[in-house]
Amino acid sequence: MRQPYYIQSANSEISCAGIQTIAQDELQNINSDDVAYWLIDMRIWTEGWEQLCKIRRNLAPAVYLKPVLFLIDSDTIPQEIVTASDGNIHRSSCDERILEDWVSRVEPINQWIEHLPNAKVGSDANIAFKVLRIITSRNVELEPITTIRRHSGYVYPLLEPMFGKRDTGVLETLAFLESQHLLNGRFISSAHFCSHCGSAFLNFKESCPQCSSDDIRSDELIHHFKCAYTAEMADFRTGDRLVCPKCERELKHIGVDYDKPSIVYHCNQCSHTFQDPKIMTACYNCGRTAEPEHQEARSILAYTVSAIGQNAADYGLDALFTNILDHELHLFSEHAFRDFYRIEMSRIERYKRSTSSLVMIRFHDLDKLYIKLAGKAREVFYELSTIFKTVLRQSDVITAKNETIFFVIMTETSAKHAERAAERLQEGVSALFENNLDFKPAMSVRIREIHPKLDIDAALEDFLENDN
Ligand SMILES: [Zn+2]
Ligand SMILES: [Zn+2]
Ligand SMILES: [Zn+2]
Repeated sequence: MRQPYYIQSANSEISCAGIQTIAQDELQNINSDDVAYWLIDMRIWTEGWEQLCKIRRNLAPAVYLKPVLFLIDSDTIPQEIVTASDGNIHRSSCDERILEDWVSRVEPINQWIEHLPNAKVGSDANIAFKVLRIITSRNVELEPITTIRRHSGYVYPLLEPMFGKRDTGVLETLAFLESQHLLNGRFISSAHFCSHCGSAFLNFKESCPQCSSDDIRSDELIHHFKCAYTAEMADFRTGDRLVCPKCERELKHIGVDYDKPSIVYHCNQCSHTFQDPKIMTACYNCGRTAEPEHQEARSILAYTVSAIGQNAADYGLDALFTNILDHELHLFSEHAFRDFYRIEMSRIERYKRSTSSLVMIRFHDLDKLYIKLAGKAREVFYELSTIFKTVLRQSDVITAKNETIFFVIMTETSAKHAERAAERLQEGVSALFENNLDFKPAMSVRIREIHPKLDIDAALEDFLENDN
């Protein structure tokens, strides 16, 4: 049974049944299977924040991925801080029941951590990988919030404490993961950032195109229909009435006896008059001024993990080949693949006219390939995915068990034809590597015709176990 662990600090204590107390530097020494979540006292929230940072910057998955709850007693903690935890418990309502309730609420996260092959011994040094893992373990859409307390203007509260001063920025890391198709982004907003210091706090101002001063004033132009005289509003103003300086008639109704065709600007510094002011931006942080097009415009996105990202969160970021394949061919999650299999099986059973085949492919020594290919890996994997693309059809459904094992449903394809496709795949792969390097990755293929008696789980399992 997992229990909450209250993290002790100099200024805090807790007296409640059903909770363990632990010192900050002991985190790594206990059996992580026993920990339901870390509970941090936020009475002095700056200290609590430090504790959270230490946890999230730890390299052991069993420590940094663990759920963290805040014990709070005031509502004055800044929004981007208070939302950085996995949940909050108010001190006044903190009792054994609530603590226990949270144990079951965060259980899915703990189970995800437990399923990792290296949760206890591993050390995740790559910040992008840590980010991918924490998003995957929470299984929610990561949404940014706005804040004036960070230069970036936007923060992803869950990620904030993971990043130390020496790490790449949060936005850059997320953009990288998205570019690798490990995360999917959903548009939230677009924002300008100072191209020099990255600050989101820019003053957009209208300025004089002649002397660049922003000491300018604007006025509306008025066009008098009767006499066609056009001048600034100020010239027409007589007390609280508008009177034409040329024909001396009073202007009463806009649209009837006059209109306002445009706005005119005056520079108070050089007396220049103009219609289109120059827009300039000044950074509140570093003070530099630039035209908006020379600042950095970025889309602010909310992120969810992709099917291939889930895979990479388990097996590592160098799951390059599956990333590329997913991009080129669209890989289905194993779950969706099984669903599709069931649909296809009932279709075959009902119409008794079609044959489709299940094809299981394993590349041996693909891990050695990475080392051999080094910088050329991406290029070669693109070629490899092109071979997949030419052999498979749009209607085929493909999933990746991991970096080296692929399952394909070839619709409307007999076992004999599937065999031929597999041969073409094999030939293409051999040719690619013969041309590129002196290396031939072994490949095993097994083909089963899809019929109602074929148990997909057993078939896949059998392939995984008996083909090494
Ligand atoms: Zn001027
Ligand atoms: Zn007039
Ligand atoms: Zn700046």
